[in-house]
Amino acid sequence: MKKVAFIGLGNMGGPMAANLVKAGYSVTAFDLSQTILESAVTNGCVKADSALAAIEHADVVVSMLPSGEAVRALYLGVHGLIQAMRPEVLLIDCSTIAANDARQVIAAAGERGIAAVDAPVSGGTAAAAAGTLSFMCGGEEAAIASARPILEAMGANIFHAGPAGSGQVAKICNNMLLAIHMIGTAEALQLGVDNGLDPAVLSEIMCASSGGNWSLEKYNPYPGVMQGVPASHEYTGGFSVALMLKDLGLAMDTAAGSASSTPLGALAKNLYQLHGGDAVNSALDFSSIQNLFRRPVGD
Ligand code: NAD
Repeated sequence: MKKVAFIGLGNMGGPMAANLVKAGYSVTAFDLSQTILESAVTNGCVKADSALAAIEHADVVVSMLPSGEAVRALYLGVHGLIQAMRPEVLLIDCSTIAANDARQVIAAAGERGIAAVDAPVSGGTAAAAAGTLSFMCGGEEAAIASARPILEAMGANIFHAGPAGSGQVAKICNNMLLAIHMIGTAEALQLGVDNGLDPAVLSEIMCASSGGNWSLEKYNPYPGVMQGVPASHEYTGGFSVALMLKDLGLAMDTAAGSASSTPLGALAKNLYQLHGGDAVNSALDFSSIQNLFRRPVGD
């Protein structure tokens, strides 16, 4: 069975690495946080003292890091992993980063004969734990074919979006649309509530009507309408406002690069900035945008 080095075992990477262990892979883990590394060991990973040590015997390197800066620092440069990797190793970066950063890492890998793919995910922490993530991959067909068995151990849908960087483009298009329909859903629910409707009844009506969408049906932002979603747990857990703002920033940068018109994406970013401007709100789940529209009690 192949040996996997897993770098970055946070909210997403932790359960993803645990699923690789469950599928029978030998996983060597590295994270900057010792606490996170210890919990990876509890899930069956072997702990490494550095990223370089983690990849020493690896056939595949998987990374799940917070930003493009972190990914570039890990792979590029004199002490970057690409210089230390054997050409037969496969590199899979699952972080959400700028498509240009992904292209740069994949090109640098290619110069050393290393196959590499960008494979950002959709589905959040619940899907990471359940092994039902969607992977949106960019890269050459042969590299994606080699990555497929590893990705299948962590996800339910594996899409090939196009050449290097295309997975990242698909991911930010999806998340820009997600932000837009989450905001629209929150706005419509509040309009109904302000006019005397029960948000649960209104949700049922709209789910069966032309306003139906994923935010309304699967991730309802109004507290108490749906069990098991962040809205019913004071917007804790899930996908943070800060991460949504990162993705909207990547979407706007991409739109600027291609001179694309994205007025709703720009408005969604502004509204999330308005809502998530302080440390408390930025750590809440992104469905907490509902609070931007809710009136204080007694108003
Ligand atoms: P997280 O902050 O929980 O985890 C990131 C981990 O990376 C941390 O444990 C951190 O210590 C580690 N790290 C950072 N730099 C490192 C380095 N140089 N070497 C080793 N470890 C390093 O973040 P997360 O929620 O797991 O998200 C990871 C990626 O997945 C992000 O790009 C995010 O946009 C994307 N994503 C997140 C979600 C979600 O619901 N949380 C959903 C889809 C995609």
